[in-house]
Amino acid sequence: MQDPTSKHPKPPFEEQKQPFPGLAGEMTPKPDHGETSYKGSGRLVGRKALITGGDSGMGRAAAIAYAREGADVAINYLPDEESDAREVIALIQDEGRKGIALPGDLRDEAFCEKLVEDAVKALGGLDILVNNAGRQQQVGSISELTTEAFDATMKTNIYAMFWLTKAAVIHLPPGSSIIQTTSVQAYDPSENLVDYAITKAANLSFTKSMAKQLGPKGIRVNGVAPGPVWTPLQVCGGQTMDKLVEFGGDTPLGRPGHPAELASIYVQLADNDASFATGQIYGAAGGGGHP
Ligand code: NAD
Ligand code: MG
Repeated sequence: MQDPTSKHPKPPFEEQKQPFPGLAGEMTPKPDHGETSYKGSGRLVGRKALITGGDSGMGRAAAIAYAREGADVAINYLPDEESDAREVIALIQDEGRKGIALPGDLRDEAFCEKLVEDAVKALGGLDILVNNAGRQQQVGSISELTTEAFDATMKTNIYAMFWLTKAAVIHLPPGSSIIQTTSVQAYDPSENLVDYAITKAANLSFTKSMAKQLGPKGIRVNGVAPGPVWTPLQVCGGQTMDKLVEFGGDTPLGRPGHPAELASIYVQLADNDASFATGQIYGAAGGGGHP
């Protein structure tokens, strides 16, 4: 047993700012993605997963957990994140599983189609798709939210999910699982995350409609809704510096979550044990969150 209030560091945190998309390896304190803690028990033996944003944060925690549960894993990330991605690939391969690195920008439809094809080729099929990559850049006033920034958030967080799912569906056998990372922002949007919160609500809605569309084909579609989690997203423009220093302090647990604390949710939603769970959103927000 471990007290959740003291399991990970509490605010105040050191001021820190990285250029987008940020590196987990350069954060203080370092996020815990389960590198030394996650223990598998054969829940995903023989499964084949593609995870976007698999280099860091929730995607990295899912990638490590999936490999330790017996899955082969392909990860997508941006070329600037190669150093984080290399660590993940090494951790996957340490488990004796295939670890496939497929960098590239998801804002491009042709790239999304190629990503799915490359993953299918390298893994010998596909039965888990985790739409997890995301862009979050805080802007205090709608007058300062540019069309370019708005468009980049929509492309990364909504269009990529649509393009990847569309390309993947033809490859997914019955028993497959699609998982979106949505957010508490889908239900309780912040004043300075207007564009981002729209996309997280879209991730949630897409999850529910696609669960209805794909249920008859035996493909389950679910979402994970994190609250404040200590990841690069937050230190490269996702929060104001004031909010970053106090990040997670207003949750009942008094701290932000770490990606490792959500890994088992991604496993559960992919596992056949959860065969009656579809169209569901699983929260992990340290005490707040759902409507
Ligand atoms: P993260 O920075 O570790 O992961 C986001 C990833 O998105 C990056 O690693 C990057 O590889 C990828 N990405 C961004 N733009 C991309 C692009 N154009 N092309 C390809 N990849 C791109 O941070 P995270 O917090 O783990 O984010 C993962 C998901 O969790 C996101 O969808 C985010 O919205 C969601 N989320 C995070 C929090 C939080 O507090 N950290 C809370 C709720 C939801
Ligand atoms: Mg990253």
